[in-house]
Amino acid sequence: MNEAMQTASPRSCFLSIDQFANLFEVLHALDYEVIGPTLDQEAIVYDRVTSVEDLPRGWTDIQEPGKYRLEQRDDDALFGYVVGPHSWKQNLFPPVSTLSTADRTDEGWQFTEVEQELPKYAFLGVRACELAALKIQDRVFMEGPYVDPNYQGRRLQALVIAVNCTQAASTCFCTSMNTGPRCTAGYDLALTELPDGFVVEVATPLGETVIDALETQIATDENQRQAEAARQQAVDQITREFDTTDIRDLLLTNLEHPQWNDVAERCLSCTNCTMVCPTCFCSSVEEVSDLTGDHVERQRQWDSCFNVDFSYMNGGLVRNSIRNRYRQWMTHKLATWIDQFGTSGCVGCGRCITWCPVGIDLTDEVAAIRESQT
Ligand code: SF4
Ligand code: SF4
Repeated sequence: MNEAMQTASPRSCFLSIDQFANLFEVLHALDYEVIGPTLDQEAIVYDRVTSVEDLPRGWTDIQEPGKYRLEQRDDDALFGYVVGPHSWKQNLFPPVSTLSTADRTDEGWQFTEVEQELPKYAFLGVRACELAALKIQDRVFMEGPYVDPNYQGRRLQALVIAVNCTQAASTCFCTSMNTGPRCTAGYDLALTELPDGFVVEVATPLGETVIDALETQIATDENQRQAEAARQQAVDQITREFDTTDIRDLLLTNLEHPQWNDVAERCLSCTNCTMVCPTCFCSSVEEVSDLTGDHVERQRQWDSCFNVDFSYMNGGLVRNSIRNRYRQWMTHKLATWIDQFGTSGCVGCGRCITWCPVGIDLTDEVAAIRESQT
């Protein structure tokens, strides 16, 4: 999806539930590999989906700090959940990628650069906070002095089909971060689910190509009213508020606040929060050899600022306590990210709260610092 191609006011139409089922055929005919929500290991995850049958029809997710579980809904909604542990970064910035190989030969080591696979993805079910996260990762990987060709190659040919949230979890705070729940930019198509189909907003020529291959109807005033009511339901369910006033200065002037010791007592330094975060991008590069020692792969892998070795420099560790590592994560995400990239590194998706095994909630941690500034 190329945001520059987005039209100022997307046109709307109505797509019946039967026609929606044909969307997969249309996308496959255009050579897209469709990645969307599906059920796996008692969670809604993003994976390859080939038909409407793969979607989590009739399931929803219940989320609280440190808790996630699925429940059956009393309807057949296909997108009646919030967000799971996965985000689209796993497809654009894979957890492990082989950059080059080295093979021992009689003449010495033979080095080979590995040609990266660039699958043509259609992302189905992208939420508003995730559109904001994609924009942040675009800034990191494509708009700085160094461009990541692997990310760029995948991203520029991806089709983005957003789906507006019609419900929210107790962990969501996109309204505080101005990232949702309404999808406003960064998509080719945006869908709002109704009981008998979808109101579709068509934002780009690529979106037009897809929707023109399906039979649609004019979205009636009643369709639009229902869609607005469904989207408003998500807004009404967001109860978590995160005060971000002067947050950069608040955190950077409180680097010795006792709250960092308090959170360090609870944090396991497990890295879950960074793995599930749709904007975290830290990685490390390792040489992995086979058992013979004749073949070596240089691999880039997701890493985390919570890992002890991540701050290893010649001579020792820079951040050798959990206190320092938690403080590094939060002050980067919410403060120095602004200096570096011009925006917050947090989009308010709530994943780090849900998937923290001890339920650490960054909104509570910031509030505690705000309440008793040193
Ligand atoms: S810091 Fe937490 S709430 Fe913010 S974007 Fe990352 S996972 Fe979501
Ligand atoms: S804050 Fe929670 S999820 Fe993050 S490293 Fe600590 S224990 Fe793990």
